[in-house]
Amino acid sequence: MTRSISIFGATGSIGDSTLDLIRDDRANWDVVALSANCSAEKLARLAIEFDAQIAVVGDESCLAELREHLSGTSIETAGGEQALIEAAQRPADLTVAAIVGCAGLAPTMAAIEQGNTVALANKEALVSAGDVMTAKVARHGTTLLPVDSEHNAIFQCLQGNDIKDVSWITLTASGGPLRAKTMAELEAVTPAQAVAHPNWDMGAKISVDSATMFNKGLEFIEAHHLFPVGLDRLRIIVHPQSVIHSMVEYRDGSTLAQLGPSDMRVPIASALAHPRRMDTQCKPLDLASIGELTFFAPDERRFPSTKLAREAAYAGGGAPAVLNAANEVAVAAFLAGQVKFTDISAIVARTLDSYAPEAPGNLEAVLAVDTEARVRAKEMMEHA
Ligand code: NAD
Ligand code: MG
Repeated sequence: MTRSISIFGATGSIGDSTLDLIRDDRANWDVVALSANCSAEKLARLAIEFDAQIAVVGDESCLAELREHLSGTSIETAGGEQALIEAAQRPADLTVAAIVGCAGLAPTMAAIEQGNTVALANKEALVSAGDVMTAKVARHGTTLLPVDSEHNAIFQCLQGNDIKDVSWITLTASGGPLRAKTMAELEAVTPAQAVAHPNWDMGAKISVDSATMFNKGLEFIEAHHLFPVGLDRLRIIVHPQSVIHSMVEYRDGSTLAQLGPSDMRVPIASALAHPRRMDTQCKPLDLASIGELTFFAPDERRFPSTKLAREAAYAGGGAPAVLNAANEVAVAAFLAGQVKFTDISAIVARTLDSYAPEAPGNLEAVLAVDTEARVRAKEMMEHA
């Protein structure tokens, strides 16, 4: 039986990996909606290849170009933030949420309201919305499947067990491309150095997040919402080989780990086929050639972001949404050459210190916190 699928952020790195898997399993899927921010030419090409019902650009100024590329086809087109939400309301058995940043929050919430299955890559949406999102998932009986490799690993390690028996969840972190740099060297890191990840091929924003370790900070908060064992039972360990994607330790002393190649098609395939398995073209894990697995405690002096995220998680309220928004602003400024690498965590810290909004109770309130935090982060940047 075929299943219907929508992919938001179809032109990005997660979108590419997802569509790669669908391409190899074409007969089993009907594609409903594909979206991009702009990338009209690529989006149109994918919409034609996968015979999508509708192609949507988030940036309305790219709609004319999309229409041009799709003229003569029966594929519908739309543009703008509201169009993304409406596309996410179209019935689909599975929605892949792979937009980067809080920009993906509203369409993800719309997809959750369908009560089907949402495969979540867009961690910023969950970090910002937290309980607002998990409450919606519960209310609509939605199945939320984590695509982030660590959370997908934890999800797999929890199968067949009772979450009450968990004593620790350990998130592994590669440490990123700058793991061995000194404080002085970090000051001078360029965007090109920061995005050159040793193990994973990802979009620019998450690549910078991996370099600053904000990615692991966001994942700490993401894990807190997906696996409610309590913040005191979540920890982070640096594991440069990225072979173990995360671990769950139980009260009897057993630790379960999920291992695999550093290829996002593995966790995505596990979400697409859930609760079964599907074939992938991924290179099998060759442990003999990897030889050694090593582990280190994170260095929060050189990489303060995991500490900031942990503090924001404990503070609760709007703090995680502020952390995320300030980080998005600071990363964009770093990529544009406006601030130094080490300014990213400083801007986030200063924005968090500047106020403490209360816990947002609904989507609009989350977006309001996000908007204000962006304004404040830009002010902090000017005073950097
Ligand atoms: P990417 O930059 O490669 O792709 C992002 C996608 O979102 C593109 O299709 C882009 O057009 C779209 N987009 C960007 N801004 C938008 C906006 N304002 N409105 C609408 N659409 C917009 O990013 P990615 O690496 O594929 O990451 C996507 C998400 O998945 C992120 O939240 C990231 O943290 C998460 N994630 C990625 C990986 C990975 O290996 N790439 C792993 C785990 C989690
Ligand atoms: Mg991850």
